Amino acid sequence: MGKSKIKESQLEDKLLMCKDCGEKYVWTAGEQKFFLDKGLQNIPKRCKVCTAKYKDKLREKHPLFWVKCKSCKKKAEVPFEPKSDDVYCEECFNKKIAQRNEAILKLGENIPE
Ligand SMILES: [Zn+2]
Ligand SMILES: [Zn+2]
Repeated sequence: MGKSKIKESQLEDKLLMCKDCGEKYVWTAGEQKFFLDKGLQNIPKRCKVCTAKYKDKLREKHPLFWVKCKSCKKKAEVPFEPKSDDVYCEECFNKKIAQRNEAILKLGENIPE
């Protein structure tokens, strides 16, 4: 694992500039820790207000649809209109992907992006 990772103790509040409103905002050490824990790559580019607005916009553009998961039968929200009954909740979908990737690895092949 030769990757250099930022240590939690090295985190400190950072001042960032929002790309939407141009206001400076604080990216707190706590938020950065969450960010690192999740393995996220892209540093947030918007302040909290603009992030909320941005998400609202995305939601408008991509309305969510209720589906019944084929696997666990739970109701789930998906960002696309289901064209068939072959739909899964995020959890089951991720499980399916993991299983598929495992199967591919067993065959000694590369996982497609
Ligand atoms: Zn902003
Ligand atoms: Zn499910």
